Amino acid sequence: MTPFPRETLRPLTPYRPDRRPIAVDLSDNTNRWGAHPGALEVVRAAGAHELTRYPSVYGDGLREAVSRRFDVPLEAVSTGCGSDDLLDSAFRAAGDAGESVAFIPPTFSMVEIFARMNGLEPSPVSAEEACDPTALLEGGPALVYLCRPNNPTGEVAPRDWVERLVEAAGSGGPVILIDEAYADFSDDTFLREAVDFARTLVLRTFSKAYGLAGLRVGYAVGHPDVVREVEKARGPYKLSRLGESAALAAFEDIEGWVPRVVAEVRREREYLFEELDARGLSPLPSGANFLLLPLPKGDSQEATARLREGGVAVRPFPGLPGIGDAIRISIGPRAEIDQFLRTLDEVLA
Ligand SMILES: *Cc1c(COP(=O)(O)O)cnc(C)c1O
Repeated sequence: MTPFPRETLRPLTPYRPDRRPIAVDLSDNTNRWGAHPGALEVVRAAGAHELTRYPSVYGDGLREAVSRRFDVPLEAVSTGCGSDDLLDSAFRAAGDAGESVAFIPPTFSMVEIFARMNGLEPSPVSAEEACDPTALLEGGPALVYLCRPNNPTGEVAPRDWVERLVEAAGSGGPVILIDEAYADFSDDTFLREAVDFARTLVLRTFSKAYGLAGLRVGYAVGHPDVVREVEKARGPYKLSRLGESAALAAFEDIEGWVPRVVAEVRREREYLFEELDARGLSPLPSGANFLLLPLPKGDSQEATARLREGGVAVRPFPGLPGIGDAIRISIGPRAEIDQFLRTLDEVLA
């Protein structure tokens, strides 16, 4: 008998978050203000050739636009079917079976899944140990994953801490992956620096600030030596034709829709923070489009179920290391935040 599937895949279970439809969905950090209007127009105007023809092989249209916008070389840019695709490809490019991926929990839940999908070992390092960033390099991981701002806490790792990590890893260390899915909301990025750092890759997405999660478009900027290998591991035709055209339309609108939405997200994030604080609750400070609310006495699954009965979806996080039970609330327009707060008051009463 030939074993099937391979042994390291067997313990994996498919990712199945609660996606049941609901009036106010604050559970997945997608854009509650809608999709970029320019992208929507491209999709609406699409003809048959957008569907019948293959897309560009490596998303060169979008690569050129990213290269121009950030003034980085074309060879420093890659694209993918969502930034998840680039995460997956970077794992595959960096590690042989059995090697490890270091990260600081709690962080993006897909990291452990992508590690195991690629036959790699997740290697969590506690936040306490990681006060010294070199703790992430112990044991010689193939890759270090850092989410900045971090999902689900919203925390933005200090710049000098990241610089110490990159410097300690040097040109002979692991690939340092900086996931900037939420950097649009914090205005703090390593995108340009990554080109000169050895073995560093910054990931960006159109799924959050641009409102295009359904189209699956992401890009990466990093050292050309890293980008070249990630593109090999990624493979051709990952960016859909329509996805690339729509993302381009949104991306080239520099002064328009995205900065306005980002400003609103920040305003509503501040409002929700203050409202929770006024109720004696302690949300974590966030640089992203969500807040994490620890529930010191509560059960996050139960709180989430009761909020759902009130028509609001949030994401439960049971037993987070160093935090305990918590719920993550995506930021939406004022009416949605107010409905969340009214429902929360009933749940807490
Ligand atoms: C939402 C999110 C992404 C985006 O993934 P896409 O595949 O681009 O939709 C990436 N990283 C983190 C941490 C996220 O929360």
